[in-house]
Amino acid sequence: MEVLSEAIAAKGLRRSRQRDAIARTFFVMGGHVPVEALVEAVRRQEPGVSVATVYRTMKLLADVGLAVPRDFGDGRARYEAAHRRHAHSHDHLVCTGCGRIAEFESHQIEALQRRLARRHGFEVERRHVELYGRCAGCRAAGKGADAA
Ligand SMILES: [Zn+2]
Ligand SMILES: [Zn+2]
Repeated sequence: MEVLSEAIAAKGLRRSRQRDAIARTFFVMGGHVPVEALVEAVRRQEPGVSVATVYRTMKLLADVGLAVPRDFGDGRARYEAAHRRHAHSHDHLVCTGCGRIAEFESHQIEALQRRLARRHGFEVERRHVELYGRCAGCRAAGKGADAA
């Protein structure tokens, strides 16, 4: 929250009760939070909060590196907290049957990323690797993208 306060001050914005509630709720929820679910959760404490304010606040969190925008192709804008425990980026397995999202970290992908960057004289700022398919549960139930 201190990092957030500083970032808000640096942007010449005032700290507001709504913005604080949005940030706190987001970090408490954890995981890959759809913005619409965040709006719902925040409105339980701040009934007057607008969708636009939630989007603006999440963009601010992303700008200062506290949150990472995620898009898993289901038409829902999501954000994920930028965790310190992830020194390296992590990637995602997305089930097209039930929407379950699993995370993985791969040293091979890290190494490949470094190699490609070197070869192309490129500096990587962020990466999104998403594998889409059916999770073990959906496969066992014979459920897939067709059934969704
Ligand atoms: Zn599934
Ligand atoms: Zn994740």
